This record gives sequence, C-alpha cells and structure tokens, in this order.
Amino acid sequence: MTNNNDCFKNDPQHALLTVEKTLQQIKQAIEPLKTRQTLAIRDALGRTLAENVVSSINVPPHRNSAMDGYAINSEFLTSAPPLQLTVIGSSFAGNPFHGKVSVTECVRIMTGAMMPDDCDTVIMQEDTLRTENIIQINKQHEKAQNVRHPGEDIAKNTTVLKAGRQITPADLGLLSSIGISEVTTYRKPKVAFFSTGDELKSLGETLGPGDIYDSNRYTLFGMLTKLDVDILDLGVIADDKTLIRETLEKAASEADMILTSGGASVGEADYVSEILQEIGQVNFWKIAMKPGKPLAFGMINNTPYFGLPGNPVSVMATCYLFVQLAITRLKGLDDNNHLSLQARCLNPLNKAPGRTDFQRGILKQTTDGVLTVETTGLQGSHILTSMSLANCFIVIPQNSGNVAAGETVEVLAFNGII
Ligand code: AMP
Ligand code: MG
Repeated sequence: MTNNNDCFKNDPQHALLTVEKTLQQIKQAIEPLKTRQTLAIRDALGRTLAENVVSSINVPPHRNSAMDGYAINSEFLTSAPPLQLTVIGSSFAGNPFHGKVSVTECVRIMTGAMMPDDCDTVIMQEDTLRTENIIQINKQHEKAQNVRHPGEDIAKNTTVLKAGRQITPADLGLLSSIGISEVTTYRKPKVAFFSTGDELKSLGETLGPGDIYDSNRYTLFGMLTKLDVDILDLGVIADDKTLIRETLEKAASEADMILTSGGASVGEADYVSEILQEIGQVNFWKIAMKPGKPLAFGMINNTPYFGLPGNPVSVMATCYLFVQLAITRLKGLDDNNHLSLQARCLNPLNKAPGRTDFQRGILKQTTDGVLTVETTGLQGSHILTSMSLANCFIVIPQNSGNVAAGETVEVLAFNGII
C-alpha cells in the first residue's frame, strides 16, 4: 500500500474520492484468506466452499413415482377407456415391489416409491375407481406420465456446487442428498475492533460531565455478527498514544482485519492517525459521501485496517458499504447482494450537491405493488434512531440537489446486516 491517495493531507479540496472508486480500491487491496478447513456440513453453513463438489450418485437414484396412484405398463393405454387392471401388489417409498407385472396388471404405488421394472407410467389415484383388487380408468392418459427419472435433479459426476460460493441452507440439502457429510471450506475471518475517545463509557459505568456511552462497539458487534465473522472486541481505549499503539499492534497480530471508530480526524486528542503513520501503511481518504466522509484504510503489518469515523451513523454506513465488502473479499466471495431499487419518495429531501448522500429511509410496497420510500426524519450523523427506523439507504447522487416529494429515487435495501 502506498500513500498515493492521501488526499486528507495533500489535497483537501479536490481529491474527494467517489464511493465507487473507494470500493474498487478496497476490493483490490484485500486478498482472500487461504487457510482451508474441512467441516461437517452443518458447521459449513455460511462458509466459502474451497473445492468443487462433484456428485458420485444420481439424484433421484432410481425411477420413482411423482404421485400416489397405480404403476402400469403404458402398452395397455393403446386400448380406449374405460380400462380395467388387476392390482397385484404395492410399492412404498423405501419398500419396493419386486415381482413381474403383466400388461393387464398394476401396482399400488406411493410418491417417491421405486417403479416396478415392467411399469413406465403412473395413473394418479384420483383418476381411478377401485373395487377390491380391480381399478378402472375412465379417461385417456399419457405414456410415461408421473414418473421421475434417475439423475433428473443431479446427474452422477456433475459438479453440484462450485468452489467460491457461500454455502446456503439449500446447499446443505443438496450436499446431504448426494451423501456428502463433510466439505472443504475457507477459515472464518477474525475481526478485531475498539472504540477510542476519553468521553466514552462502557455499559455499567456512570456518565460524568461530557461523557457518553459507547455505542459503536455495539452496532459493530451486531453487524459483524450478522456478517458471520469471529469477533475480538478490544473495548474502549482512551485517547492515549501508548495504549492505542499497543492495542493496534495486538489487534494486528491476532486478527485478519482491524476496525477502530473515532479518533481518526484532526482533533487535538485524536492520536490514531498519528500512530498509524508510524506503524502502518494507511491512506486517509476523504470520501464524497454523507455520512462518513473521513475514512482511513490500509495495512498494519499486512492486516487490513479501517479507521471508521466516530459518529454512530457514519460508522454504520461505512461498515455497511466498505467493511462488508472487505469481509466479503476476505472470505473469497464476489458480491454483497446489494439490491438497488427505484422507489417513489414520499417526502421532500434536503441535499447539497458535492457528495453522494446515503439518507436513511423506510421502503414499503403499496397494495398495488408500487415501491415507496419515506425519510426517517433528522439525518445528522449522530442521529442513531435514523438507523434503527430505516430498512434502506436513499442514495442521492453526488451532483444532485434537493429531492421533491413524488420524485423517483434510488434505494439500497439493507441486506440483513443492519
Ligand atoms: P471523533 O472522530 O473521535 O472526533 O468522534 C466524532 C463524534 O463521534 C464525537 O461526537 C464522538 O463523541 C462520537 N463518538 C466517537 N466514538 C463513539 C462511540 N464509540 N460511540 C458513540 N459516539 C462516538
Ligand atoms: Mg474522539
């Protein structure tokens, strides 16, 4: 990492970095973790698959019935209905019928049960009239109907899941359907974080004059938990150079990524940037976004580092956009599944040209299916209630001004981590 983008110091007026460019820089800078771990499939949920999974069997493994009904030989269907057949046995799922079946005979069969060798068609129960061991079929039926074939879902020797995907609940089902109990995954990233600021008190402490409770460690805990990483919470660190340096070094040696919040601006008691110049290769970016303009990003001893702003809403917005991407990269995954939608804005919104706004909104769908979005109210970067009420960001482009009520706006629906 170089300090080429050190616009915070060198070019304060003109070098605002766009959100797009910031995302690109982060994507390029972060290498996926390489360590592999073989896990029982349940423990692999949410992990990144490290190797292709190939099926050694067909699914379904045998021809079976798609309906409850009667298995017959379709040669019999060439005669015109009504037709009568003799029921000579039954085939249940897991309990097949093994005997011979002649053209005028049939076998009672259940959904998922193996087809008798001599049968190729199933007549569903509702289309038959049964009297003792005789069934009557009154209408025309298609040859080969209601039969599932071997390998119809998954054919033997095909790649079922590709390396690099995140394992989902459906995948656990797929893996078990092909008899696989363990998969090779990549190790889970470990993320260390701490808050800085003499004014910050942890829960359980009493607030003195000028103090506030630390909330960033809790929002970060929540988002990181949803991002499915291991967490190392290093607490609140006072504005003390030695303490901050020691904590950053400990974090760099133990974690795969470090986050701090606060202390990265140019306030007199803000030591983080000063220490980072000494022990890391960190860029101090000014990003053309609101909230969350100042952001430090770089490496401390090869461990990626984010110096998030102190304000609670800025922390959440930058974590959502940038830290989430970085974790996705560490996991070796490609995208964040951000759903960008167009919605009708119900309120006028204040916006100054110059930066991209990520205002907090409430996205709804009317009964006619129209997407609408409403502001959460006050949009200051200290108004944490705006985050708690929101289910989306209203993204207003860098050069746009105010939005009038009724205009269509771009909305970024939260993907479940806020
Ligand atoms: P700073 O970047 O340290 O100057 O902080 C900017 C603003 O965010 C100040 O109002 C801080 O009090 C506030 N702040 C910083 N860290 C936290 C935190 N962990 N929880 C809540 N507010 C914070
Ligand atoms: Mg501070």
